[in-house]
Amino acid sequence: MPGILIYSDNITLTKQLITAGLLLKEKMNQPVYVILTGEQDLTGIANTAADEVFVLKGSNPWPESYADAIANFASTEQISAGLFGGTPRGKDIAAKVAAKLGAGLVTEAQSVEFDDGCLLTTRLLYGGLAVATEEVKLPALATIAPKTFEEAGSSDKQTEVITIEAANELNQITIGETCPVVREGVELSAANRIVSVGRGVGKKEDLSMIGELAQAFDAEIGCTRGIAEDYHWLPVERYIGISGQKVKPDMYFGVGVSGQVQHLAGMRESKVIVAIDMNENAPIFEAADYGIVGDLYEVVPLLIEALKS
Ligand SMILES: Cc1cc2nc3c(=O)[nH]c(=O)nc-3n(C[C@H](O)[C@H](O)[C@H](O)COP(=O)(O)OP(=O)(O)OC[C@H]3O[C@@H](n4cnc5c(N)ncnc54)[C@H](O)[C@@H]3O)c2cc1C
Repeated sequence: MPGILIYSDNITLTKQLITAGLLLKEKMNQPVYVILTGEQDLTGIANTAADEVFVLKGSNPWPESYADAIANFASTEQISAGLFGGTPRGKDIAAKVAAKLGAGLVTEAQSVEFDDGCLLTTRLLYGGLAVATEEVKLPALATIAPKTFEEAGSSDKQTEVITIEAANELNQITIGETCPVVREGVELSAANRIVSVGRGVGKKEDLSMIGELAQAFDAEIGCTRGIAEDYHWLPVERYIGISGQKVKPDMYFGVGVSGQVQHLAGMRESKVIVAIDMNENAPIFEAADYGIVGDLYEVVPLLIEALKS
C-alpha cells in the first residue's frame, strides 16, 4: 500500500525522520513505514506514531548491503516518498534506491512538504547564500541531515514490528580490517552548547581562556576553519561550517568569529546565537540573537567571572 518510507542507519536520526514523515502523512494521508536493517536497536521506535516497522533480516552487518532490499521493499509497497538519514551511509543508500526506483532525490533537504501531488523540498545553496525550493514528482526521495527535525515523541500506540528476509542482499563488501576513528573530542553535532573560537583570538595560549568560558557554560569548544586547518590549534573535527561540522546546539557562542558564509552554513540553525566581535559590521551579527561589540580580551574574562558567581 502506498506509504512514506523512513530509513536511517542511525536510530536517533530515524526518530527525527519519523517526525518529518508524520508531517507528510497529515497531507498525504498515507501510512509511515519505518525500515530498519540488521541489528539496529528497536528501542523507542515501535512506540512512536509510525504505522509499521519492518526489520530487514540479512546476514550482512553493513547497511549499504541492504540498498537493493530497501529498493525492493519500496517498489513492492509502492512508496510515494522516502526520507533517508543524511549520514554518509544514508546518502549512499538513498542514491542507490533512487536509481533503482527511477525516483527523484533531493539531498540535504531542510523541509519537506506535500503539495499538488509533488514532494516540495527546500535546501541551502552556495554555502547558505540561497535557498532552493524543489518540486519532485512522486515517487520522490530526500535525505535529511541530523537535527533538522526534533525526535518523534512516544505515543500510546504499540506499532507492529514485522521481520522480513532481505532479498537481493549485496555481498560485495568484504571487510579486511577495521580500526576505530580516534577522536580528540566529542561529537560536536550532539553538543547542546558550543563556544566557537575564531581568528580574533590572537595566540594559541589564549585558548585556555576560551576553555574556561566553555567550562563555565558547560559547553564544547568549536572553531572556524582557520583555527583548525591553518593554525592547527584545534583538531579538524572541531571546525564548524560548510566543509566542517554541521551543528544545531541550543546555544552557539562565537568569540572572534567574523561569521563568513562558509562558517554560518554549519551553525545558523543553532537555537540561540551569541557573538563577540570588535567589528560592529562583522556578518556574524546579522545571524546573532545577541551581539557584544567589544574586545574579546576584555569581555571574556568579565563573562567568566559573572558566570562563576
Ligand atoms: C571553499 C571554502 C570552504 C570554507 N569552509 C569553511 C568552513 O567550513 N568553516 C569555516 O569556519 N570557514 C570556512 N572557510 C573559510 C571562511 O571563508 C572564513 O575565512 C573563515 O570562516 C573565517 O574565520 P574567522 O572568523 O576565524 O576569521 P576572520 O574572518 O579573520 O575573523 C576574525 C574576527 O575576529 C574579530 N576580532 C579580531 N580581534 C578581536 C578581538 N580582540 N576581540 C573581538 N573580536 C576580534 C575580527 O573583527 C573578525 O571579525 C571556507 C572557505 C572556502 C573558500
